[in-house]
Amino acid sequence: MNKPLELKELIIHKEQLAKRLRQETSGEVMTDIASRGRYATDASIYQAMPVAVFMPKTAEDIASAIQIAAELKVPVLARGGGTSQCGQTTGAALVIDNSKYFRSTVDLNLDKGTIDVEPGMVLDHLNASLKQHGLWFPVDVSTAGQATIGGMAGNNSCGSRSIAYGNMVHNVLGIDAWLANGQIAQFGNYANSSGAAKQLGDFVKGLADKLHPEIEAHFPKVLRRVAGYNLDVFHPQSELPYTQDGSVNLSHLLVGSEGTLAYFKSLQLKLAPLPQHKVLGVVNFASFFKAMDSAQHIVKLGPTAVELVDRTMIDLARSNPSFKKTIETALINPHSQTPEAILLVEFSGESHATLLDKLKSLQDLMGDLGLPGSVVPMSDAGPQKNLWEVRKAGLNIMMSLKGDGKPVSFIEDCAVPLESLAEYTEALTDVFAKYGSRGTWYAHASVGTLHVRPILDMRRDGAAKMRAVAEEASELVRKYKGAYSGEHGDGLCRGEWISWQFGPKITEALTEIKNAFDSKGLFNPGKIIDPPKMDDSSYFRYPPSYKVIPLLPALDWSAWNVQNNPVTEETSAPGTGGDPAMGLAKAVEMCNNNGHCRKFDAEVMCPSYRVTRDEKHLTRGRANTLRLALSNQLDVKDESPLGSDSVKDVMELCVSCKACRRECPTGVDMAKMKIEFLAAYKKRVGHSLRDLVVAYLPNYASIISNIPGLPTLLNLRNHIAPIAKLQEWLMGISAQRSLPTWRSRTFWSNKKQITAHHFTPDQLNTPNQQGNKGVVLLADTFNAYFENQNLQAALRVLKEAGYRVHIPQKNNSENKTKTTNTCSKEFCCGRTYLASGMVDQAKETLGELVDHLAPYAEKDIPIIGLEPSCLFTLKDEALVMGFGERAITVSKHAQLLEEFLASEAKVGKLNLNLKAATRPILFHGHCHQKSFAAVTPAMELLKLIPGGEPKLIESSCCGMAGSFGYEAEHIVVSKQMAELSLLPTIRKSPDSWVVADGTSCRHQIHDGAQRDAVHIAQILAAHL
Ligand SMILES: Cc1cc2nc3c(=O)[nH]c(=O)nc-3n(C[C@H](O)[C@H](O)[C@H](O)COP(=O)(O)OP(=O)(O)OC[C@H]3O[C@@H](n4cnc5c(N)ncnc54)[C@H](O)[C@@H]3O)c2cc1C
Ligand code: SF4
Ligand code: SF4
Repeated sequence: MNKPLELKELIIHKEQLAKRLRQETSGEVMTDIASRGRYATDASIYQAMPVAVFMPKTAEDIASAIQIAAELKVPVLARGGGTSQCGQTTGAALVIDNSKYFRSTVDLNLDKGTIDVEPGMVLDHLNASLKQHGLWFPVDVSTAGQATIGGMAGNNSCGSRSIAYGNMVHNVLGIDAWLANGQIAQFGNYANSSGAAKQLGDFVKGLADKLHPEIEAHFPKVLRRVAGYNLDVFHPQSELPYTQDGSVNLSHLLVGSEGTLAYFKSLQLKLAPLPQHKVLGVVNFASFFKAMDSAQHIVKLGPTAVELVDRTMIDLARSNPSFKKTIETALINPHSQTPEAILLVEFSGESHATLLDKLKSLQDLMGDLGLPGSVVPMSDAGPQKNLWEVRKAGLNIMMSLKGDGKPVSFIEDCAVPLESLAEYTEALTDVFAKYGSRGTWYAHASVGTLHVRPILDMRRDGAAKMRAVAEEASELVRKYKGAYSGEHGDGLCRGEWISWQFGPKITEALTEIKNAFDSKGLFNPGKIIDPPKMDDSSYFRYPPSYKVIPLLPALDWSAWNVQNNPVTEETSAPGTGGDPAMGLAKAVEMCNNNGHCRKFDAEVMCPSYRVTRDEKHLTRGRANTLRLALSNQLDVKDESPLGSDSVKDVMELCVSCKACRRECPTGVDMAKMKIEFLAAYKKRVGHSLRDLVVAYLPNYASIISNIPGLPTLLNLRNHIAPIAKLQEWLMGISAQRSLPTWRSRTFWSNKKQITAHHFTPDQLNTPNQQGNKGVVLLADTFNAYFENQNLQAALRVLKEAGYRVHIPQKNNSENKTKTTNTCSKEFCCGRTYLASGMVDQAKETLGELVDHLAPYAEKDIPIIGLEPSCLFTLKDEALVMGFGERAITVSKHAQLLEEFLASEAKVGKLNLNLKAATRPILFHGHCHQKSFAAVTPAMELLKLIPGGEPKLIESSCCGMAGSFGYEAEHIVVSKQMAELSLLPTIRKSPDSWVVADGTSCRHQIHDGAQRDAVHIAQILAAHL
């Protein structure tokens, strides 16, 4: 095989490669360092800078790209979701991303139960399309929302239900693929094969026949073995035969080949009937050993899955607000000590009654094994689904550990026979302890593949410990006759163990196979064949030479600036982590590239990716770009890397929806990072007129509304197109948008009303005749100046329910001492300043509000807001602005109107008589509301309207996101976001009330669906 080109030589070819790709294909070509950097990592500890990145639009594009790369001697690396855990998707190569355009169904044959798909098809999308036919593709990997069929086949992926359905290799029926010489070959049934596929098949058969005794001796006899190439297709060693009829299928040679043999063009898959019913029995164990020992007995009952979650993971899930409630449904007694382990035992089939019998057998079995009463039965689909989601989030839950020590993949999927599982896990736990670490165990107990990742610090002594643990783990695997590589592939962390597993003769045969397929080493060199050492730090994402640039961030990131103890997982005090960027870099580095943000399900993250499908408009792409910027890997010359154009490029479409803050399993909070970027960027380039107009709105709103005739004059902009056009030209505010309507009568105009709503904390703290304390109601700029009706409605509802209401307004002395807000008598949360990167001004404004509110919060008075973006600034950003304890106290008391009313209703204190609804109600949650789990209270409250039957619109961000949707350069994306599901759902329900708390959400609904959405306060008031 030819020696791969050195990186230097590859870079020389970069420009030529890009030029030819641009000229000869219709795909997207990226050669800038930031774009390449976003493709330099997968979910492993490794990093390698691609030569270029290519997004093909057609099959012809891929064929041409392979040919051009071959001619220029640039390696080719096929990529799907990039969620591999072992580094197989990293390389100094032309990275070809199939996931944007190459993701269609080629052919569905319902009679045969097969489907042909392009490799970029995501598993969840495939299964969603199959559901209507009662079918599914059952290799249910945890990353089903991101993993592509090409990547799954590349890795020979395995799902939780592999005991029933097998791995990818058991479910792929055929692959059409480009060979390194550009030829397309059809790999399928060997007996019927022809052309290049047959020739290659014959060659491999020759090797396999010659090495039959070696194969018998060295291939582990377990279901979960994914190392090397499947040389055993001709002499099967897997517990489960590769084919039902014992025939040889040549596509199985390509499954698990990690992109090293051929480039998949389409894959034919075997489909399975969707199980009609499922039941789950969750077995609680007081001893981990006992749990492991029981697995071998439980599998005899014929379950479709037996999955482990250990105590550490249960505790981590219990401490995470998103998972707490669900994980506790799995416990026999959530109030007593957490069990050492639980096993999720699933049975599925046609008849529910039969499954209930199986559940009963499980309970009997556990009784026989000395654990009567240890099973929590779950026969309903809802709770089962929720629990599976927590189990699937297992790795991500673990990865949320702050500090440089992280759980590292390298022996995370060794597979051992079930009889030895208990001894193996116990012995490996001792190995971890010996090296000052600890493992958290979870996953596939049914097939002896337990995931475990010791916590290692790769910047310090991690590499040495990784080697030592791997050596000892391999001894155990050998002792128990297991497979060292059981699920996630070989990549860079297990490549060197292939020869250990199979011995020299088979290893040599694997090299011969590679040579026969790809003699010039075009496809993904250094994987499977000639791999580097697993601990070669030149491949690490965080090598010991990794350095962060010193930087003073605008916000307080000290909570991330910590180190952890690998055994106890305790973290050091905030600010002690040694981050030269004061915690910002460590917060960015929380992204482990697992790709969970590449999702399209009912939640919110990440709206810009949902409409563009571009890595750079994805939370992961943003975090990677920031990491590269903060560690000076972006080649930025004389400007601040944080405020550079490369970072601007990725932040451009981030709508600061805060969805990642909640939905990213490791809590990457890109909305706050965008504030940091904006502060640095605007410092570099200055503020535009539009920035100033947006930022200072709360200051000049009162001036405009108080000058007679001015509101009417300004509102002409919404009716006279040329004025809107002129404004677009001058300020970049889209002429396609209507602007909020200025009014001369605002909330603040009614002085009597304002005076009547002034109470001291002590006054509010004294219960009135109805036994109610008072509340604080924030009159935010948007509702006070543009939609006064919402504040009036909220006042009416609160008063009707018997609460006295204090409306914060600055008194004169407060007003005089401050500078930023001098024109305004009203408090403000500073949101508009944050949106424009003016953090100092935001701090000053928000600080005043926090000062005013703190005495109320200290008296336990609820602080109620109507506009989610304002209210959640008080709950969220206020905590990272250096305000100390008072901000925390205020944050704890700040809540939306519906949160307050729903909590009062829950304790039977809400005294509201609501009339019956005459129309159905649709509710759209603001992104920040979703991010803080404040949608449920809104729905609970709306349910109090008799006959309301509110329906939640399952949508991501509405696309307005403050000023984003008004900006001329973002109007198209803004509309696309709204059209994903929000507007179509509203259009389908012409007679409903549409309830939306966000002022910009209501605007988007008005502009896009010509419907007047109302604030929840208004719908409540309308039903009084
Ligand atoms: C949190 C987490 C949980 C996971 N859980 C599981 C699990 O339950 N089970 C499991 O098996 N794995 C799991 N994985 C690993 C990973 O998600 C799976 O292996 C997944 O199938 C990879 O899909 P992908 O699209 O991301 O592939 P990628 O990482 O993009 O690619 C994988 C390999 O396939 C090759 N490839 C991609 N497309 C082609 C093509 N067209 N032609 C040839 N080769 C190609 C690539 O070169 C690469 O070597 C998990 C990973 C994470 C981060
Ligand atoms: S941003 Fe979060 S969800 Fe996305 S890849 Fe990184 S860690 Fe995963
Ligand atoms: S804040 Fe929203 S748009 Fe921005 S990265 Fe996070 S999920 Fe995506």
